[in-house]
Amino acid sequence: MDLHIPFDNSYARLPEQLFARQEPTPVRAPRLVAFNHALASQLGLAGIDDDTTLAEVFSGSRLPDGAEPLAQLYAGHQFGHWNPQLGDGRAVLLGEVNGLDLQLKGAGRTPFSRRGDGRAWLGPVLREYVVSEAMFALGIPTTRALAAVETGEDIMRDGLQPGAVLTRVAASHIRVGTFQALAARQDIAGLRALFEHAVERHYPDVTTPTEFLDSVIKKQAELIAAWMSVGFIHGVMNTDNCAISGETIDYGPCAFMDAYHPMTVFSSIDRQGRYAYGNQPDIIVWNLAQLATALVPLMPNADQAVAEFTNSVHAMPGLLNAAWQQRFGAKIGLTAVTDGDMALITEYLSLMAEQGTDFTNSFRALNNGTARDQFVDRDAFDAWNTRWRTRLESETQDPVATMNAANPALIPRNHRIEEMIAAAVNGDYRPFDRLMRALSTPFTDPRDDADLTRPPSESERVHATFCG
Ligand code: AMP
Ligand code: MG
Ligand code: MG
Repeated sequence: MDLHIPFDNSYARLPEQLFARQEPTPVRAPRLVAFNHALASQLGLAGIDDDTTLAEVFSGSRLPDGAEPLAQLYAGHQFGHWNPQLGDGRAVLLGEVNGLDLQLKGAGRTPFSRRGDGRAWLGPVLREYVVSEAMFALGIPTTRALAAVETGEDIMRDGLQPGAVLTRVAASHIRVGTFQALAARQDIAGLRALFEHAVERHYPDVTTPTEFLDSVIKKQAELIAAWMSVGFIHGVMNTDNCAISGETIDYGPCAFMDAYHPMTVFSSIDRQGRYAYGNQPDIIVWNLAQLATALVPLMPNADQAVAEFTNSVHAMPGLLNAAWQQRFGAKIGLTAVTDGDMALITEYLSLMAEQGTDFTNSFRALNNGTARDQFVDRDAFDAWNTRWRTRLESETQDPVATMNAANPALIPRNHRIEEMIAAAVNGDYRPFDRLMRALSTPFTDPRDDADLTRPPSESERVHATFCG
């Protein structure tokens, strides 16, 4: 049976200047190394039991019927610096299935490749596969991973590395930077077409640019609060890596924090710490201000745009705070969180920062009453604990149930990801399979995989993460 993908390609029907028609470049020897069967059936894909066909299609070596492949145009602020011309330099959108994008990442050069080779290597492909699926299991909006295929070609990345292609599924790949690209070109017709397309796909109840901006702001505020609640650091929150849908997108040098410190940075390219863990709420407001700027030409006049958009952007820190309080309140067992509870939350974080305890485990240990063991200075913990217990008495919901749903036992720890990549490069996919299995139920205490909850030892610690 042939692979059947029920495509409907609305992006390919948008004005031509929004993209470049581009077929993926075939690869030498495609070999399927991971496939997400649950997601495939959700998408309505049929005929997915032949690995050879899957490898050919999801490496870009064989174009499936109904695909209208293209590379999307976008621009963006990279580390705060405006870059008018980015676009999919190594990704090709095959088309849409049930309203979701099917995109091959690492599919060869495109008109937007600049000096890049259009390819990806196996390490970042598997990293994105594992981390995006872990995010999904954690209940956080994210792009998904459908397939990973080794290409049989070596590529240059700090020496020769095995090439790979990731198939990504997303609500869309429309970014803040997509709007910025058209606004910067003063292409109002293109901007309007993009706006209408994004509204129809993501915010069908919206009628005005201001309502659209407010909707994206709300989604992104909730997203960043969710990231913060699991210690996730995106690493490259450029405006081109910020999705209009509110999904986490473009997993590059991202990482989950082990020991808690608000200024934690992993990304090797983030030398100033612009995208440090604790900066993420400020950065997202800055990014959404760039979206507001890009939407100005769609407003009846500049005065109205300034008045309404200023309100919208100024409201965002409040929304972030509320979402953060909700998330972190739940992490200490509170459902009806008030401003008065902020001290209790931040003091627990301060204890963790002072003593360098593990973010995930220090919260998880509150669920089962073993948190005291996480701390060296037990007196400091006991003082906090007494106040916390008193506060819990006024909770109407069961705090343990609240915490069990908010404090995962398992996150994809950096040292485990590096270990998994090293094994896969040597042809051993057992660590990959084990990680995928364990991370699919992150809120359950693992029985066989208890070692995956352990923070890295000093020698295991990963100090920097790299782009692909
Ligand atoms: P990223 O840092 O992954 O968000 O990528 C920033 C920009 O560089 C995007 O426009 C990518 O498409 C492009 N890019 C990244 N890696 C490559 C590559 N190997 N070849 C071509 N373009 C690339
Ligand atoms: Mg075109
Ligand atoms: Mg990107």
